Amino acid sequence: MNRVVVVGGGLAGVRSVEALRAHGFGGEITMVGAEPHRPYDRPPLSKAVLLGTTDSTIVDSDLDAMEVDFRPGAAATKLREGVLETTGGELPYDGLVIATGAAPIRLPGDGPQHVLRTIDDALELRARLTSGTRVAVIGAGWIGAEVATAARKAGCAVTVVEAAAHPLAVALGPVGAHTIPWYGQAGMDLRLGAAVASVDPGGLTLADGSFVEADVVVTGVGVRPSVDWLAGSGIELDNGVVTDEHLRTSMPGVVAVGDCAAWWSRRYGRRLRVEHWDTALGAPDVAVATLLGDEAVYDPVPYFWSEQFGHMVQYAGDHSGARLLMRGDPDAGARWTACWIAEGDTLAAVLSVDRPRDLLQGRRLIEGGRRIDVEKVSDPAIALRDC
Ligand code: FAD
Repeated sequence: MNRVVVVGGGLAGVRSVEALRAHGFGGEITMVGAEPHRPYDRPPLSKAVLLGTTDSTIVDSDLDAMEVDFRPGAAATKLREGVLETTGGELPYDGLVIATGAAPIRLPGDGPQHVLRTIDDALELRARLTSGTRVAVIGAGWIGAEVATAARKAGCAVTVVEAAAHPLAVALGPVGAHTIPWYGQAGMDLRLGAAVASVDPGGLTLADGSFVEADVVVTGVGVRPSVDWLAGSGIELDNGVVTDEHLRTSMPGVVAVGDCAAWWSRRYGRRLRVEHWDTALGAPDVAVATLLGDEAVYDPVPYFWSEQFGHMVQYAGDHSGARLLMRGDPDAGARWTACWIAEGDTLAAVLSVDRPRDLLQGRRLIEGGRRIDVEKVSDPAIALRDC
């Protein structure tokens, strides 16, 4: 293999380049990225960047030293076997890494709406978050909660509009309801069960016909994998780029990583697409090994974190089908953890609020898969590793 092309200059892209060199690949590497920037981290965009404590989140990676031909501002437009078409011309390849991430969903309507995906989005939004500004955040998910936190800190009057009955409904199910008090305590107006019909000049129109006035509207209702450019290529797509457990796509010599990849999880026996930093960080090493002819398997316990309302919220595992057990009392306002127990009394997933040790120990228990003493789990005084 002489030429590898990496499509996408985000975290998964830059980690792919690093992995190629770390695995001893000495051939040509070209990385094309639609954005005009060097690869940067996105988690701080809704935290430190919005809060004004940093302006740059560029990943510490020396592309020149790795002899990478990095082409910022060049988008891939088409793929056929052995050739990538880009806005800057055709690139033949022997191996290709698809790392084009995901893009935010926008809602209908003629009114201006901010989304938060890029450093440019973050800097533009930050400039609008001034004291007294009326900000409407659509969606009380991870991004919505973090944007609302930053806007409130900047002195804005914040309304959060959520279609579900409680925050984080998609990610956490009923456990998300325990975050409802955080909104009131922060002085925000949280409107639950309120679906947005359209974003209009001056605010939002809700499905019931009422209007929420706002100077700034931020839409945080999720993302879609950025795979439109692959339409017609013949590569299998289904909620992202379909891969096997080695991160190999249906097209020879092509692997996919990060937010755009829907990989086969050996651990869970189904396909997963995880839009979190840890996946973009860890998957490239396996994908590159695959590209270079090894039989590495990508089989992590998914992990992510969020910083909202002064809380560190961390999650590991997959709770679908598992039963919930609380550890600590969320209503008492203290630190708490939710554990999900699978059949056979193994730990399926853990969500910790300001209890990082629970997360760490819980993650190990999930990875190890040993049976636990469920009685002990609900007692927060007993370390999870001793359950
Ligand atoms: P991306 O970071 O999206 O990078 C993909 C790149 O490919 C982009 O630069 C894109 O422009 C480019 N691209 C797209 N199409 C093309 C094309 N056709 N040609 C060339 N280039 C293309 N995760 C957590 O676990 N915890 C957090 O607290 C957290 N906070 C977040 C906060 C924000 C504001 C955002 C946006 C994300 C956050 N995440 C968090 C998620 C995490 O950042 C993503 O999972 C991660 O960035 C995915 O990396 P990626 O490289 O797969 O995709």
